[in-house]
Amino acid sequence: MTKLIDDPILLTKKLIGFRSITPDDGGSLEFIASFVKQLGFKTKVFSTQGVTNLFARWSPKSGFKRTLAFNGHVDVVPPGNESLWDSDPFNGDIRNERVFGRGSVDMKSSVAAFLVALKEIIEEEGPSCSFVLLITSDEEGSAEYGTKELLNWVVKNKEVIDDCLVGEPTSSKFVGDTIKIGRRGSLSGFIVCRGKQGHIAYPDKAVNPVEELIHFLSKLKSLKLDDGSEFFEPSSLNISTIDTNNNALNVIPENSYANFNVRFNDQHSCSSLIKKIDTLASKHNEVSDATLEIKYKCSGESFLTEPGRLSDLLITSIKDAAGVDCKLSTGGGTSDARFMRNYCPVVEFGLVGDTMHQINENTKVDDIVLLKDIYKNFLKNYNKKV
Ligand SMILES: [Zn+2]
Repeated sequence: MTKLIDDPILLTKKLIGFRSITPDDGGSLEFIASFVKQLGFKTKVFSTQGVTNLFARWSPKSGFKRTLAFNGHVDVVPPGNESLWDSDPFNGDIRNERVFGRGSVDMKSSVAAFLVALKEIIEEEGPSCSFVLLITSDEEGSAEYGTKELLNWVVKNKEVIDDCLVGEPTSSKFVGDTIKIGRRGSLSGFIVCRGKQGHIAYPDKAVNPVEELIHFLSKLKSLKLDDGSEFFEPSSLNISTIDTNNNALNVIPENSYANFNVRFNDQHSCSSLIKKIDTLASKHNEVSDATLEIKYKCSGESFLTEPGRLSDLLITSIKDAAGVDCKLSTGGGTSDARFMRNYCPVVEFGLVGDTMHQINENTKVDDIVLLKDIYKNFLKNYNKKV
């Protein structure tokens, strides 16, 4: 009978079986810890503020020159209305050569593929590099006590990491067509526009915060950010909400509210954007009877791992296993790579993400096997060439 440790599909199915809705790991990290102990890993599972994380290291007996880390997560987004799924989202059913279940794409299959690749490399090659696992259960949630906390632990315990692979789904149409070498930053803004409440029939006695906010938002939307840069698309600013909380048709309300988000490239930082937007707001306040105030939340700065050693190794590993020439990208949302990049060069590579977070999330069985082969090539090349 095939054992879990030999089969990335069985292992994916097993991991999907843990009901690990963010930030709960559902017991999956203890399972992974005991799994990698069999391969000779030293493991540490610890919890901070209800979030469980796993650190694990495998080292050759005679010392090592470099350490490659794999960063991933076992938590998943909620399944939504479970009655809309064709099968139990936490069962990992296999139909039509596909594995179905929450986390089948994002990203339990990637964790399973990496673990099996590690097992094969350790047995077949007797590597001279060290391998580290940084696996969290808080990537899909606030991410406050996940990878960030793992990295605090790494520093406190003087663990060394030289390079990192993040296993998020990065492929676009087929496995291997896209890897990520950076990500855009994300800044959210929360605007309050304070006017003066009054009867709508006597607008001269009030200050309408709705109309003032609309004026400001149109200036904000026409703010010229950039035309893109060598590895990045142009930055974009988008408005997500406009509210007044006003149900009365005859009232000009006191306040109005709007939120926006900027996805920005390496030409900006959160602080440079805040400065730019605040200047626009103060100019607006000078000529307006209403007053705008903006609060901000920076979810991550943009970053780039310059193409070179690490991305070249991954490109070769993909070409050898899949016969595909991959594209370097910095698009999409944020990931935990934004924390890893403060410690070491980081590249991201995983499955095709088209059904992630959806009802009936699924991936092809063959894609998981191919991903395992690519990860295995990458580990082999890393061990040989760095
Ligand atoms: Zn993910």
